[in-house]
Amino acid sequence: MDIILFGMQGSGKGTQGKILEEKYHLKVFEMGGQLREMIASGTPLGDKIKEIVNAGNLVDDDTVLQVVGEFVDTLQSDQPILFDGIPRTVAQSDKLLNLLSTKGRDAFAVLIKITEDEAINRLTQRRVCESCKGVYPPSYKSEECQHCGGKLVVRQDDTPDSIKRRLENYRKETIPVIDGFYDRDHLIEVDGEQEIDKVSKEMIEKVDYLFN
Ligand SMILES: [Zn+2]
Repeated sequence: MDIILFGMQGSGKGTQGKILEEKYHLKVFEMGGQLREMIASGTPLGDKIKEIVNAGNLVDDDTVLQVVGEFVDTLQSDQPILFDGIPRTVAQSDKLLNLLSTKGRDAFAVLIKITEDEAINRLTQRRVCESCKGVYPPSYKSEECQHCGGKLVVRQDDTPDSIKRRLENYRKETIPVIDGFYDRDHLIEVDGEQEIDKVSKEMIEKVDYLFN
């Protein structure tokens, strides 16, 4: 079973994704990284993407799906995938599920759920390391990064206004995608407002049967 991970910014989705990846040996399909890898590959598809990106355009759904298709084809059929950053829209979601089903696959959505107020709280209070970009929650009291000793600062794009814009986007585009998984009975919701290890525990308890 493949997993599609959803969660608002600040939900801790990245951390929980890592835990899923390690526990179930998932292969991660992360949109940005995959496109960069494609471009570097110099294949016809890579060159096509390079042209689109260099022209300052968004990569269209059909091209995105081609990239997914090539990725899937490199894997054994029983190797589960973790999708991150895709699908972004209902149309893209339909195409992705269609593609997966032609390859004998199916996907469940896992949503790390927090409220918008909680997201705004977390995002306005977190700090990042100037040097290594490590992210620190409000509970971390020191001014110094524990990995590299760099200075911790509030991210410039984490103003309440820009956060609200990002959440607005999430509401408009991502929530309808998640609703689609709910309608198909392929949605697992996890309470993301608990401590990190409790979120992981709830998530593992709920997804475990998919891998057994
Ligand atoms: Zn650092």
